[in-house]
Amino acid sequence: MIKSFKFCPNCGHSINNFDFRRMSCNNCDLVYYQNVAAAVAVILKKEDKILFTVRNKEPKKGMLDLAGGFIDPDESAERSCQRELEEELGVTIPLEDFNYFTSQPNNYEYKGIPYKTCDLAFVADFPEKEIILEKEEIAEIKWISINDINLNDIGFDSLKRVVEMYIASLK
Ligand SMILES: [Zn+2]
Repeated sequence: MIKSFKFCPNCGHSINNFDFRRMSCNNCDLVYYQNVAAAVAVILKKEDKILFTVRNKEPKKGMLDLAGGFIDPDESAERSCQRELEEELGVTIPLEDFNYFTSQPNNYEYKGIPYKTCDLAFVADFPEKEIILEKEEIAEIKWISINDINLNDIGFDSLKRVVEMYIASLK
């Protein structure tokens, strides 16, 4: 996964020791890990509907997504949910109102670099506040009824599985 690095960032020597999440240099002591990145996704619900965002950026531009994103350093998963909703939708939800649902591994490729993530999914009630969209990342939002969701419209495999599991949990 980190084979795109050709040279040691410490000494400049050629690198050819890779395993699935680390590289090491034969010439100096450098060992570099690319660990799994944690991310959050929020199922925002209102009656029988879920709020989906439509991605305005690659990867998966134009496809459905859940509000969320990568967890920042020194941040809890709940705070990450809260911050991402503030940034993407302009809506603030109390930390205690995010209920953990499940997690799924995912592949996220950005500008040619493949990242392995673990997506933590939370459920929260929509607080009926005005939404102010972050238009660079999100083209529009769609409230979709549970019965009308087409899983193939969802961009990331991890979130397809999350939504599929959520729908199953309601039956
Ligand atoms: Zn080196």
